[in-house]
Amino acid sequence: MRLGRLSLTKQLLGLWAVGGAVLGLATWICFTLNLDSSATAFVYLAIIVFLSLRDSFLSSAIFSVASVASLDFFFVDPKFSFQIQYSNDLPLIGMFLLTSFVITGLVRRLQLSKVTLERQARLLDLTHDTVVVRDAGDVITFWSRGAENLYGWSSEEAVGKISHVLLKTVFPQARETIDDRLRRSGHWEGELVNTNRDGTQVIVASRWSVQRDDSGRPNGTLETNNDITERRRAEAALRRSQAAYLAEAQKLSLTGSFGWNADNGQVFWSEQSFAILGVDSAVEPSIGLLLERVHPDEIESVRRAFDRASQDGSEFDIEFRLLLANGSIKHVHAVAHVMADETDRAQFVGALMDITPAKLAEMRLQEAQAQVAHVARVTSLGVLSASIAHEVNQPLAAIVSHGEASLRWLNREVPRLDEVASSIRHVIANGKRASGIVQRIRGLIGKAEQQRSVVNLNDLVEEVIPLVRNEAARHRTLLQLDLGDGPFAVSGDPIQLQQVLINLVINAIQAMATVEDRTRSVVVSTRAEEGDLVVLDVADSGPGIDADQAAHVFDAFYTTKPGGMGMGLSVCRSIIEAHGGQISVLSRPSGPGAVFRCVLPRVARAIG
Ligand code: ADP
Repeated sequence: MRLGRLSLTKQLLGLWAVGGAVLGLATWICFTLNLDSSATAFVYLAIIVFLSLRDSFLSSAIFSVASVASLDFFFVDPKFSFQIQYSNDLPLIGMFLLTSFVITGLVRRLQLSKVTLERQARLLDLTHDTVVVRDAGDVITFWSRGAENLYGWSSEEAVGKISHVLLKTVFPQARETIDDRLRRSGHWEGELVNTNRDGTQVIVASRWSVQRDDSGRPNGTLETNNDITERRRAEAALRRSQAAYLAEAQKLSLTGSFGWNADNGQVFWSEQSFAILGVDSAVEPSIGLLLERVHPDEIESVRRAFDRASQDGSEFDIEFRLLLANGSIKHVHAVAHVMADETDRAQFVGALMDITPAKLAEMRLQEAQAQVAHVARVTSLGVLSASIAHEVNQPLAAIVSHGEASLRWLNREVPRLDEVASSIRHVIANGKRASGIVQRIRGLIGKAEQQRSVVNLNDLVEEVIPLVRNEAARHRTLLQLDLGDGPFAVSGDPIQLQQVLINLVINAIQAMATVEDRTRSVVVSTRAEEGDLVVLDVADSGPGIDADQAAHVFDAFYTTKPGGMGMGLSVCRSIIEAHGGQISVLSRPSGPGAVFRCVLPRVARAIG
């Protein structure tokens, strides 16, 4: 720092010495040549301009004052004195002084703008951005230090070359479009790919702005470029790793993704979607290709879901089976909705999940539940065996007695054929009754596949009651029906629903075994409830169920009976829930006892 200041002072002193010498020499020459004061003033002015350009305002001010003094002393009368004899010399001295100060002022301005320019140039060189100025013919006229560093060419090498030829620029759009934009708005921004001197490529964020001459006509372009190669590379790497993670996650979760444009039918499937559908990922995906793999029984419903979604842009959520080329079956769940930022409601994005393992587990669970239910059913029929025997015996006894009566009518001297016919009609009716009961029991004992149909709950109650009526009678229990104004149509498996009712009635009868102080009564009632629901209540006058017990009665293996299995109510709950309903236990509102309530969704149509 001190060294710098020292050399500056030296420089200044040297300039002043040279200036003084030049001024002295000019004075001697002018004096010798006997030039008048005006001519000498011009010579001085020339020297002041020269000296001022070489240094600061202070130096030029000092030289101006020295020149005025010298002019006055040597060239204005009386000579060799600072006095002025003739008043018409005064304007000359004044003009000279003024002019030399104006020159000094101008020089100062010039110096300042030079300093500013130098500072700006240094700033430009400091930035990592490249700054390139091109003329109207794309010839480089300025090439910053940043440009030298990035591209590898020095300013001398680059200036005079056509920029996009030198840099082998790849434009993001047609050059005409860029130029057109630049002409209209004066600016353009975009990403370019340039080739460096060493042949490597760089991606730059480029900003262009039009340069204009004094009359406002465009005469070139200022281009600043920022190297974003690393950023783009990192982004691409990130995208690649995200895509890899996503693909792996899709594989792990057996979930593929898809896109579908309902307008033009364009379809995108992820790798995992191809894998789920068993299609080679090189094949062009399409809805047709998907439908080819849908199980024939479900093609119509899948097609309908697609049609509906494409018509009103509604979400779709559908489970269906695939029948693959190798004959295997897959269960899939497809969900899709219109993409959030789409306005045309035609661009869908969705997920395709392979739910085969879950479905198989569910099916195995259903089988296990069905087996448990079957065991529970057979068990309750065991409880009912005496009643059932009685129930079958009655028509059999009737058949025997009507048969005997027929024989008697036939053995008469004049056989009474009308009576015989009437007895045979009774035989047939009782035979049908017995066979009806046997059939129902076979249904309950058999391991029939679950069969869904529309069942009228009132009919179901009336069919079951004969099987339990005798059991109720054996336990001195009054069994009453209070059936609402049906039909109460529910969709379900009649055998399973019968099982629920039998279980609830047997439980009620058993719960009242110790009741002696009041009538043992079981009331089976049905009614409709708001919200398209049907309620089936089995109310008894037994001991009832306290809150503690209520929390557990539906648990598997919960029993308070010595020989009980504790499966009855648990099976009832799974059956009712599989029918979309709910089962609960309440206290009987009028007096002691429990009410087991099944609430099921009501459907539109009843059969039978
Ligand atoms: P289990 O009949 O083999 O005991 P359940 O699951 O059918 O199995 O019944 C579980 C328990 O719930 C019974 O042991 C009994 O304690 C209680 N329970 C069932 N129904 C009634 C009822 N109507 N009143 C009182 N308690 C009942």
